[in-house]
Formats: sequence, structure tokens, C-alpha cells
Amino acid sequence: MSQAITLREYQQQTIDKLKQSLMAGFKRPVVQAPTGAGKTVIAAAIVNQARSKDKRVLFCVPALSLIDQTVERFRQNGIFDIGVIQGDHDLTDYSQPVQVCSVQTLARRKIPLADLVIVDECHVMFKLYQKWMNWDEWKMVPFVGLTATPWSKGMGSEGMWDNLIVATTTAKLIEEGSLSDFRVYAPAHPDLSGVKTVAGDYELKGLSSAMDQGHLVADIVSTWMEKSEWRPTVCFAVDRLHAKHIEQQFKQHGVPAEYMDAFTSLDKRGEILERFKTGQTKVICNVGVLTTGFDADVRCVILARPTKSEILYTQMIGRGLRPAAGKDHCLILDHSDTTLRLGFVTDIHHEHLDDGSAKRSVAVKPEKLPKECPQCHFLKPPKMRDCPACGYQPKPKSQVECVEGELYELTRGKEIKNNNYTANDLQTWYSNLILHAKLRGYKPGWAYWAFKDKFKAPPPSWCMNIPAKELSPEIQSWIKHRNIRKAKSKGRAA
Ligand SMILES: [Zn+2]
Repeated sequence: MSQAITLREYQQQTIDKLKQSLMAGFKRPVVQAPTGAGKTVIAAAIVNQARSKDKRVLFCVPALSLIDQTVERFRQNGIFDIGVIQGDHDLTDYSQPVQVCSVQTLARRKIPLADLVIVDECHVMFKLYQKWMNWDEWKMVPFVGLTATPWSKGMGSEGMWDNLIVATTTAKLIEEGSLSDFRVYAPAHPDLSGVKTVAGDYELKGLSSAMDQGHLVADIVSTWMEKSEWRPTVCFAVDRLHAKHIEQQFKQHGVPAEYMDAFTSLDKRGEILERFKTGQTKVICNVGVLTTGFDADVRCVILARPTKSEILYTQMIGRGLRPAAGKDHCLILDHSDTTLRLGFVTDIHHEHLDDGSAKRSVAVKPEKLPKECPQCHFLKPPKMRDCPACGYQPKPKSQVECVEGELYELTRGKEIKNNNYTANDLQTWYSNLILHAKLRGYKPGWAYWAFKDKFKAPPPSWCMNIPAKELSPEIQSWIKHRNIRKAKSKGRAA
């Protein structure tokens, strides 16, 4: 039946590489297939080949919602002898040679014998797999992992996965048109300096209080109004309250928005999705539920959930990369600084599985990180000089070089206690001060002295003399306190 499937060149090459890997003695290889690479097609080809040799296959999925979807896709790819192991599913039939299994159900039952085990979404590390792969009677049975993001810590440690096969990359899929291109703007820079890191990502409670602030939420909506052209949009929020606040803010501005989280029933999700598809709903604000298995035509992604996880980041952006007629690119409005922290998703790449031992090799070298256009907040590749979005031309290179030196001095100066200021922060401060001076009718020099007051150094030469669009409450409150301080010292002098 395998003749039913026509494989793309890299898909066939992936199957070949997988065979070579198994022949070379690897027993636990992982196939990395990004969204859009046809992971299920590759999986079906592997199953079909095993079936042609009369082998029995267990295909394991990490979520209930993936069972029926997998069965459906397998059928489309010519696999019909399927049983399901999940609760008391209609297709329960242990005599079938291909079993689609929920890992939760398997963990509670005796696992039927098989010649091949395929683990879908294998970056999700279930305890069962760890034990199962090391049981004596399974040691010689090959396990093949499938995932778009094989970057979990410890995936490649002793007794776990042992080889990585990269089917293709997101960058290549964009190049060949199988995925949509994307453009990123970083309109806001949240202050995450006080948020702790737990298990490799921001601690949620701290993240919530850092992000769920009126001015940040308002900024999400005003940026969307300005840049989105009312594209169908998915917004990722930190937690339920945060998502609801964003939803409300959208609604207050007359934008049809809805809310979804893990507790939203499947029926209700279906209805929301339907309204989204017809355009009746423009924005879905969600918490962690739209990261996988959502293939509507999304043309704008709002990142309001900062993360240090390359997996989560890639999943969120991935929602917007599905190609569609008339879609030139997906707009990414990054309010989380994630792109500036982790680089473009197309730059995230690891040669090997993480063995959990030494410090992880950094995926994105600092010099590869994107740069923000100071005029329009577009994030451009690091070596690009002029902004392709607004045409802004930075000052000549010789001056750019001295920028680094100045910033270094400025941030290392001992008067500055908090050295967390980035170039963007400094520009934001300066622009805010200029706006304040303008609004109050102060002399232009006021912003210069106020800046010097704040940073104990003059504004760097690259700081642009442009007013901000609106005043940040944080800076406003600093100005207020400065004024009070000045008034008091004047009073004392008198
Ligand atoms: Zn620009």
C-alpha cells in the first residue's frame, strides 16, 4: 500500500537516513520534522515499510486529541489495519498490527509486543518512555522519536534517545514556499529583571505580574490597531487573567476577540475556531492551548508571553507559518522580547540532542541576534543595515562601532547600579523625556539633563532625537519624583 504515498525528496532522504541510522546500530533515533515538513507523512511511510515486512507497530501520542487525528491521517496515507489503545475507544482491537496508543493509557496497561515503536512529540518526556525503553525485552526493539523541536533537556542522556536526524528546517521550508515567511516587530520591551527562572523558563507568577499591567496590555492593542490590518490573529498570554485582560482591551476597541484556555470545552473551541475561520472573530487570546494542532489561517501572532524555552517559542510562531492563498508573510508582534533573546525561530538549531550533562551549547550566538529598527521597531537580521520595513538608515558604521564602546562605558559606569539597560531602554528613556519636554513646553535641553540625571551620563551619540509616541508610566513617575526632589532642594536652598 505504500505506493499510495508520494514522498518529497527530503522526506525520502529522511527515511533513508533513518534506515542507515538503525543499520549503524542506533536503537533510539529521533527524526526532527518542523511544522510543515509533513511529519505524519513521514510517520506513515515508516509504518508502511514496517508493514511491508509484516512487522507490528505501536504509534504513541501524548494527548487524547491526537488519537483520532492520527488514525484519520494514517488512513489518508493508506494504512487501514489500525487498532486504538485509549480508554474504551471504538477502535480497540489488539489483533490489528498497527496500534495508535495514548501514552497515558499505555502506562496503565500491559504493553502489547511490537517490532517497532514510534513516539510522536517525543520532546515531551514521559516517565513511561524512560522506563519502557530500558526494559530488557524491549532493548532490541527500535524506538523512533518524532518531533519538530528535539531540544528538551536530557533527551539525549544515557538510556534515552541516541541519534538525531534532521529532516529539514523551518528556513528551508520557508524558502521553498511550504511555510509562510514572517516579519517581526518588537514594539515593547517589558521589564523582566525581577522574574525568576525555574526549570529553564520564567516563573509564571512573577511573569504574570510583570506582563499583566495596564499600559502593556493597552500597548498590545494599540500596536495591533496600527500594524495588523485586521489580520486573523492569535495572541499568546501568560495566564488566564492576562489573556482575559487582553481580550477585554480588544473588545473595548471594537475588535471582535475571544478567549480560550485548557478548560475551554472541545465543543466551545470548535465554535470559536469556526467564528475565527469566517472572520467573525479576529483575535483569539489564549493560554498555552493553541501551541499545537491548530491549523487555521493565522496571519498575525502576538507574543505576550515571554519565554526562555526554544520549544514553546517555536510552537507559538509556528501557528502563523501555515501558507495560504494571498498570504505574503505572517506578522509577528513580539511584546515579550523573545526574538531579541532567542533569535529568529529560523536560527534555532542544535546539531545534537541534549545529554543533560554539560551546559547546553548556545543555539544563537549573540552576533546572530536580530536588531531592532529604532524608528519602526521592525526586527531585521543582524547584518542588514537599512530597515527594510521603513527605510530607516542608521548612522555610518564608524559611529556604530563607537556606540558599543559608549554603551559599555555607560552600563559599566559605577554610578549606574542597574546595568540591565539595553540600547532600546536608553532610547526609550530619551524619547520619553523629549516627549515630556515637548508636552510641557520645556527647553529642548531639558531632556538631555534629565537623562544625565537618571543615567549619570549624557545620552549616547546614537540616541535619536525623536519624541516617544506616548509616555511610559514608569518614566512619568520617575519624572514626577525628580521634580519633587528638585523642588525640595530648591526649597532648602531658599
Ligand atoms: Zn524601520
